[in-house]
Amino acid sequence: MSSSTSSRLHLPSSWHATTTKATCRWRRQGLLPVAAAAAPLRLRAVHATDAAAGQPIDAGSGADEGPDDQHPRLKIAIVGFGNFGQFLARTFARQGHTLLAHSRTDHSAAAAALGATFFADPHDLCESQPDVVILATSILSAKAVLHSLPVHRFRRNTLFVDVLSVKEFPKNLLLASLPDDFDIICTHPMFGPESAGGGWRGHPFVFDRVRVGDCPARRARAEAFLDVFAREGCRMEEMSCARHDELAAATQFLTHTVGRMLALLGLEPTPIDTMGYQALLRLVANTCSDSFDLYNGLFMYNQNSTELLNRLESAMDEIKRRLFDELHEVLRKQLFEGSPPLNTDSPGSSSPPLNTGSPSDSSSATKSTDHDQDAHDDKSGQ
Ligand code: NAP
Repeated sequence: MSSSTSSRLHLPSSWHATTTKATCRWRRQGLLPVAAAAAPLRLRAVHATDAAAGQPIDAGSGADEGPDDQHPRLKIAIVGFGNFGQFLARTFARQGHTLLAHSRTDHSAAAAALGATFFADPHDLCESQPDVVILATSILSAKAVLHSLPVHRFRRNTLFVDVLSVKEFPKNLLLASLPDDFDIICTHPMFGPESAGGGWRGHPFVFDRVRVGDCPARRARAEAFLDVFAREGCRMEEMSCARHDELAAATQFLTHTVGRMLALLGLEPTPIDTMGYQALLRLVANTCSDSFDLYNGLFMYNQNSTELLNRLESAMDEIKRRLFDELHEVLRKQLFEGSPPLNTDSPGSSSPPLNTGSPSDSSSATKSTDHDQDAHDDKSGQ
C-alpha cells in the first residue's frame, strides 16, 4: 500500500448533496473528514494509512482548477486509450478534467496532444489515485485488461465506469472483480467518432448505477461523472444492463450486421444513386469504420444477438419465399389455366415471359417503373 495520498473533487456552489441522513462508510471508519454536507460543497476523498487516518493531504493534483467553474472537475483515468478512449478524452479535456491514460500500445504522443498523462505501467496509473477509472478497452479484452490492473492500489472508494457496447457482461465482471468499496456505473455512450464527431448533443447515453455507496460524497461523485455527458446535451437514458442488451441487439447489432453484410456486396456510388441507396452507403461507412473486434464483441457478449441473427436470416428467407411464391403463381396460371406458355422460342432461354405485352402486363410494368423512382426516398433517406 502506498503512503498517504489524496485527491480532491471540487464542486460548485450549485452542487449540493441531496441526502445528509445516509451514513457514509468512510466516515464510520474515520478515514474521511467530511465536508460533504457543507455548502458550497467541497469534497475531499481520502485514502490514508492508519497512522494518517483522518488527515487529508492535498496532493495538488490540479483536478480542481479548470476553465469552467460551474461544474465539478474530476481526475479521470482512461484504460484502453484507442479509438474510443481518445474520442472521449477530447471532450473530457475541453471540460477541464485532469486526464490519465493507460493502454497496451504506447499512445503517449496522442495523450500528450490531449494534455493527458500516459502511464505504460498500470501500477503507476493506480498510484496517481484517479477519482474515476473508465474501462474503454475492447469487449474481447476487457476481462484480461481489468485483471491486469492492481486494483487494490487505487483509492479504496474509486469509481469504476465502463463504456463497453454490451452491458450485462461488464456489470458481472466488475462486480466479481472489484473490491466491495468501489463504486460501479455501467454506461454505453451510443455514439462515436463517426456519428458524433461534431458533438454529442442529442445522442443517447445509457447508464446503470450498478453500485454507488450510500454516502453523499460518493453520490456526488457519481452525479459529477454523469454530468460530464449531460452537460454536452446527451440524451440520458437510465436503464438496467439487461434491458440495454435486449434493446441493443435489436438496434445496434442489427445495424452493424446489415452494414457489414452490405459491405460484402462492395457497394459503390453511381450516377443514379437514390437517397435510400446513399443511406446504405453511409451505413456501410459508419459501421465498418469500427474494428471487427467491436462487432465480434457485440455478438459474443450479448446473449440476445444470436436470436437477432436467426430472425434476420428468417426474414431474408421469408422475403425470398414471398417472391418465389408470386413467381410460382404466375407459372402455375400459365401451365394450368391456359395462359401463354413459357417462352421457348429462343434456344437456351429459360426465363419465364413475365411481360407478355398484354394490357394487364403493361400496367404491372408501369407500377414497377414507379417503384424504381424510389417513391419512398424521403423515408429511406432518414
Ligand atoms: P475496440 O477495437 O473495441 O477497442 C480498442 C481498444 O482495446 C484499444 O484501446 C486497444 O488498446 C484495446 N485492446 C484491444 N485488444 C487488447 C488486448 N488484447 N489487450 C489490451 N488491450 C486491448 O475499438 P474502440 O472503438 O476503441 O472501442 C473501445 C471500447 O469502447 C469498446 O468496448 C467499445 O465497445 C466501446 N465503444 C465504442 C464506440 C465507438 O464508436 N467506437 C462507441 C461506444 C462504445 P491499444 O490501442 O492500446 O492497442
